Amino acid sequence: MVWQVFDSYTLIVPMRVGLFGGTFDPPHLGHLVTAVNVRHVLKLDLVVLMVANDPWQKHGTREVASAQDRLTMVQAAIAGVDGLLAGDDEITRGGPSYTSDTLAVLHERYRGAEIFTIVGDDAAAKFGSWQRADEIAKQSTLVVVDRPGSPLLPPSEFNWHRVEVPRLEVSSSDLRARFIDGRPLKYLVSDAVLQVIAERRLYGSKS
Ligand code: ATP
Repeated sequence: MVWQVFDSYTLIVPMRVGLFGGTFDPPHLGHLVTAVNVRHVLKLDLVVLMVANDPWQKHGTREVASAQDRLTMVQAAIAGVDGLLAGDDEITRGGPSYTSDTLAVLHERYRGAEIFTIVGDDAAAKFGSWQRADEIAKQSTLVVVDRPGSPLLPPSEFNWHRVEVPRLEVSSSDLRARFIDGRPLKYLVSDAVLQVIAERRLYGSKS
């Protein structure tokens, strides 16, 4: 069992772990602000930004950067940030990425932990179409955060914990479009991520 020991007289409480999954193509400030704020509000020990190996819900919509490149960007984005971790379990497992399988791995790793599945309201609105949604709801506490735009309602048959985070009008799609038409990315993506993008020539960047 993985427990936290608070002092030598052993007040023992289970760990609280957030699972924040995504394509992260690329990771941006909206992701990071969400992760640190949910961590703070829910007093989580850890938030794992889990990089989807194969984001099957995005099949046929566009080309996705390689899983390894997206993982490297997430690692760069969170370097030195307390309580955030880049998760590579879905990449190691291979194949399509199903949250229920990932939760099983996290329960095994952090035995006895309470696990929170964190999603933006756009993702929550589609939750009913996720593979084994009922199982995910049993394996974890569901957490939804609002994104800018008209609020999207998560399916009411599940129990949702709503957490307020600063709403940042930023999305990976907009950032990819910015690369194509040369609009500025600075401050929307961290410099460390911009460096990985330049080094690996992602999104058509030249150097
Ligand atoms: P894309 O624009 O390519 O669809 P995205 O910006 O939505 O990408 P994802 O990696 O698909 O990024 O999202 C991972 C998770 O982060 C999802 O739960 C999504 O709702 C959430 N998320 C993305 N952007 C924000 C944001 N600006 N504020 C809060 N949550 C966000």
